[in-house]
Amino acid sequence: MTKDVRDMDGRVVMITGASSGIGAAAARLFAERGARVVLMARRTGQLEAVVREVAAAGGHAVAAPGDVRSGEDVARAVATAVERFGRLDAAFNNAGHATLGQDLHEIPDEDFDTVMDVNVRGVWNCMRHQIRAMLLTGGGAIVNTASTAGLIATGVGAPYVAAKHAVIGLTKAAAAEYGERGIRVNALAVGSTLTEMMESVVDRAPGIEKVFFARAVQQRFADPAEVAEAAMWLCSDASSFVTGATVPVDGGVLAV
Ligand code: NAD
Repeated sequence: MTKDVRDMDGRVVMITGASSGIGAAAARLFAERGARVVLMARRTGQLEAVVREVAAAGGHAVAAPGDVRSGEDVARAVATAVERFGRLDAAFNNAGHATLGQDLHEIPDEDFDTVMDVNVRGVWNCMRHQIRAMLLTGGGAIVNTASTAGLIATGVGAPYVAAKHAVIGLTKAAAAEYGERGIRVNALAVGSTLTEMMESVVDRAPGIEKVFFARAVQQRFADPAEVAEAAMWLCSDASSFVTGATVPVDGGVLAV
């Protein structure tokens, strides 16, 4: 029987921002398809709940609580993968933080710093430690969560737009540097997805859906599982000739 290249087949995958939304959906999906998942997020209680849920469904998951802004925390999560499962094959660097769509001149400096730290330094920290581990075993696949805001100004706040553009830049740079060493690196241009982050944005700015849906061909939010499917494809051998790419999962926003 031929091997299904979409199968994650015991692969060890680190997922950040795994306590809710897209990250939690990815944890469930990757585990269901046979991956052993190492889950990182700051909220330990919620993270442990996702680990229990994966285990109850017959999957293999371990929690690695921590903040992606800390290189030490990220290094510990990568070490957890290696200690528990012997290697790191793939990573979905998905933790992120958004500010509300305030005007640029009204956004406090601290908000700019937080958005840059979580989204950009977080991906930087993750890739540095993950790549070190992957080079020891001949390669791997990394997927970074960007956004449609990584390609266009979507009205969600200048720091977030800048940060997600930087995530795509880091993705391309890493793909170029490690292509010959067996590591593929891609990004997802995620569109409006119904998660905690989105619910809090909608709560704080009633009516903001109109801004999100103004360009959305499908006129709806994505379900987090729809984004997780794309992340899994990019982490699997099914996408073996895809690297340095930014793949839209956006209901058509970037098409119009
Ligand atoms: P969410 O709020 O449900 O999940 C975010 C996750 O990141 C949580 O698990 C949270 O604990 C974790 N996190 C936040 N800061 C962290 C930190 N410093 N260290 C470790 N973990 C941290 O939101 P989501 O919508 O699932 O967001 C996931 C990713 O998708 C983010 O990168 C976000 O920017 C991106 N995104 C979301 C949308 C959307 O509409 N929801 C659109 C485009 C891009």
